Amino acid sequence: MKIEVLRIGQRLVRDDRVTTHVALVSRAFGASKILMYDTNPEIKDTISKVNKMWGSDFKVEIIENWKEVIRSKKKDAFKIVHLTMYGEDINTVQSDLRKEDKVLVVVGAEKVPREVYDIADYNVAVGNQPHSEISALAILLDRILQRRQFQKYPNAEREIIPTKKGKRVMNKTTD
Ligand code: SAM
Repeated sequence: MKIEVLRIGQRLVRDDRVTTHVALVSRAFGASKILMYDTNPEIKDTISKVNKMWGSDFKVEIIENWKEVIRSKKKDAFKIVHLTMYGEDINTVQSDLRKEDKVLVVVGAEKVPREVYDIADYNVAVGNQPHSEISALAILLDRILQRRQFQKYPNAEREIIPTKKGKRVMNKTTD
């Protein structure tokens, strides 16, 4: 299953840290790409450093026009999954989401325009309380992929050896 994430509505500087975390969660929880605009270019650098050290070829695409992106992804058979506290309960829609081949997950920052609710194939709520795009995204991706996202990457320079205490990291380029 191919999953991409579209970040909309972020405010430059003010939302940079949250947007970076949305990108990190997208990568670590099984999406292959994040599309974003009006972003600090350092976010792209941060993610490429993480890819180099910990593996994967997760992509960051800087876009001009998010409405055009949604339209073209729809034409390319992506289902649009908008995360919103006003949507359908994730418990109800998760089994349908797991059957999709290509999904574009839309996460907001500021108030999301009405047209996103209309164009979305699924408006999905992770509970009906306001919280965070980072948490909503992590839970959605985990519910869809059901832990299959937690994989090892052959192109990683480093790999963590889980331990009860302390930190063990294998350096795959030298060890
Ligand atoms: N007040 C904004 C609105 O009306 O769209 C929401 C702002 S919220 C801080 C930022 C993003 O977090 C939302 O656009 C949505 O993607 C996500 N989010 C927050 N709570 C959520 C929930 N309970 N379920 C799903 N997504 C949620």
